[in-house]
Formats: sequence, structure tokens, C-alpha cells
Amino acid sequence: MKLAIIKPPLPFGWAPIAPPILEYLAALTRKADPYIEIELINTSATPEAIDRLQCDLASISILTPTAVPGYRIAEKLRARGIKVVFGGMHASAMPEEAKQHGDAVVVGEAESVWPQVLQDFRAGRLKPFYHGEHIPLDDMPTPLYGLLKGKEQFRVVSTSRGCPYNCTFCSVKPFMGAEIRFRPIEHVVRDVAAIPEKMYINGDENIWWEGFEQRAIDMFTALKGSGKKWMGFGSLRPVLSPAGSRMLNAARECGMLTAWVGWEAISDDSLKAYKATGKVGVDRERAIKTLKDHGIDVSIFYMLGSREDTLDDFKRSVELCDRLGVSMHPSLVVPYPGTELAKQYEPYMYKDLGWEYYTGAFALFDHPDPAMTAEVREELFHKTFLELLSLPRIFRHMFRIPLAGFPHAHIISLMSQLPIRKGVKIAYEEWKKKRGEVREKRSRETR
Ligand code: SF4
Repeated sequence: MKLAIIKPPLPFGWAPIAPPILEYLAALTRKADPYIEIELINTSATPEAIDRLQCDLASISILTPTAVPGYRIAEKLRARGIKVVFGGMHASAMPEEAKQHGDAVVVGEAESVWPQVLQDFRAGRLKPFYHGEHIPLDDMPTPLYGLLKGKEQFRVVSTSRGCPYNCTFCSVKPFMGAEIRFRPIEHVVRDVAAIPEKMYINGDENIWWEGFEQRAIDMFTALKGSGKKWMGFGSLRPVLSPAGSRMLNAARECGMLTAWVGWEAISDDSLKAYKATGKVGVDRERAIKTLKDHGIDVSIFYMLGSREDTLDDFKRSVELCDRLGVSMHPSLVVPYPGTELAKQYEPYMYKDLGWEYYTGAFALFDHPDPAMTAEVREELFHKTFLELLSLPRIFRHMFRIPLAGFPHAHIISLMSQLPIRKGVKIAYEEWKKKRGEVREKRSRETR
């Protein structure tokens, strides 16, 4: 039996990151049945692989912006008699929809049901739905690093799952649950050691949790001998906790170069509207300075154009970038299916914009301010992003990256910002060409 594990193409082209589900699901498969032949396909890197693919079963993992290309791939494979199983956050939020395009759907986390899926397939009795449970993470296999033969430069390590907060826009809690489940530290050390490259990404939603700072310190201390550099998403509240300084020193000493920070909203009003309680009331600017004082560079991710945001927020985000000396990555707000925000915005959604528009570059809902039309928000988003990625700003940022990270943090910053700048320029030109067609779709009724 041969299994293909497929990641559909990303909306903005190839990124140098090995999609973690590929090598991890491969490891789960090997654990369940060592005799299954496995092929991994990252279609962003090798789109032609689908046309020549021969296998018995294909597993396609979809996020909302990759759902439509994922369904197209399924259609091609099923026409050749290949059975298709969908999984991932979008399939979990929209299982009935995914089932229309595949033979089975794994809803939720795969670990507890994947051996059963494989067994049922072999027996010719695939069920339409498999519901994964939130099980303890004390038996996760090391991903089969190296099985993906492409140009991917970064592998992703997972150290925990789940989140106790309730940010309305976030898919993590519906998918992974409210309880934080930690992996044993020795398993994290084992997986980091197995990564062939000298740099990796910590793929957790949060690399350090409020109330669990000592756990983070213990993990970073155990990773000190890895000799590898890394980046990951970190929340700001633990940075300012009494243990924050020790935690950041330990992170720095085990190779942390850059903290990616979910800033989410420029204004406090929007942050409150998102119910982002882990962030409301935190002196966010002091936390960023603290990170940099400890030798860790910062990249901020945030959303623009919510129904509470104003036109001024676009401009204020650029001022924030200059004031803090960080790189910033905006997107327009996306009310992902299955989230509270999707329910709240339901009456305002443009119903004819399909999942392929859920990329963060399109305005998907009506705004109460008549000056903030969808096209104004989209144009401002592209212009703001390009302003944040202007060459003078990218090079100025080089001098504001903590010296402790030299040269890796500087190289990483350039390696990421320049291609993103190129990608945003292309996306902006494509948006200009498509704006008439999108305007037409939007001119029909909202949901
Ligand atoms: S955005 Fe972060 S803090 Fe908020 S619910 Fe999602 S994972 Fe938790």
C-alpha cells in the first residue's frame, strides 16, 4: 500500500518551511504500520508531483485559504481511483463540506484515529468521519525529517498544544482545546536533535505561557546543548512576569533569535472587541523593549480593517514599527470558519467571496464606516505592507536588531523580508487586475 501526504499550494507561493504535517503524519503512519510506502508532496514547491502521483490513498491537510486548491487536487486524484482523506483545521471546521470532496474526513487531531483510518482503508471500509480526541502529548513520534526532498530550509518543532484564552478570531482553541498540553521536555530535545538543519521554528501557538514560565526555563535549559538557532511565537505577558528575565536569558542561550509576537490589533478597543484577554492591559511596548534588551529580535503580526478599526490604524501601525524598531506583518481580518468572529460577522459577510479569498489580502465583510469601503481597506493594506517593507526601512531595521543575534538574526531578517516584499508587490499588482471582478462579487448581497 502507498500513501501520499499532500499539502496544497499556499496562496502567495512557496515558503522555505517544510509544512510540519507532512513529516509528522509520515511518522504517525510509520508508527501505525511500518510497511506502508509514503510519499510527501508540498505542492507549493512541486506542483507537478500531483500529475505523476500514483498511490492508493491520499491524505490532504487543508487550511481555509488552501481548501479550494485542496479540493481541486482531490478531484484529480479521485478521477484516477485514488481515495482521499481530508484533515486539518478547515476540514475540522467544515467537515460536511470537506466530505463532499473526499472519501473521509478526520475531524480534530489525528493521533487517536489515524491507525484506524489506515486499517479501515486496507479493509475497504473507510468511514465518512473520524473524530480525533485531545489526548496527552507524551507519545508523539519524531517527524520523519528529511523525507521531504525539496528546498525547504526550516523544520518545525512542536512542544505544546491548546490555549486557555478566547480570542474571537482564533482557530486554535476550537481545534486543539482550552487545556495546555505539554510534551515531555526530553522528547522536544530528541526532536530538535533530529533536525538536519542548524535552524528551526518552534511551531507552538505560544512558546511560553503565563503561569508556566518555569517550564519554559527548564525546556530552554535542556535545549542549550543543541547548537541550533530558532524562532517562534511568544506572548508578551510572561515576558514581564517576575520570571521573565530568567526565561528570556534561557531562551537566548538556547539559540532563540526572534520572537514573533501576535500584536493582533493596533487599538486597545479592537483588542478588547477580540476578547484578547491575554493581551489586554499588558504594557506591550515595554515587553517588546524587554525582549530586545535580552538580545531577542521581534517581528509583529497584526490585523487591520476589523469593524472596530479606523482608517487611522493603518497609518499608526507604520508609526509603531518605526518607534519600536521591529519588523511588522499585517493582514486584513479573516473571520475563519468555526471561530466566534465568524459568527459575529455573519450578517456582514460578502457571501460570494469563496475560501480562496480568505488569504488576509481581501476585505471579506462590510464596515460600518462608509469611508472604509472594501476596496479602500484592500488598497490601504497593500500600501501599508509595502511601506513597512520599503528598502530603507528594511535596512534601518538591520541596525536595530540586537547585536547578540549577529549574524543569524540579521540574515534571517533579510532572507524573510526581501522575498515577502517581492511577494506583496506581485500580490498588489494582481489585486489591481482582479479588483473589478471582486467588486462585482461584492456588489451582490451580504450573507
Ligand atoms: S490568538 Fe493566541 S492567545 Fe488568542 S486564543 Fe489564539 S492561541 Fe490563544
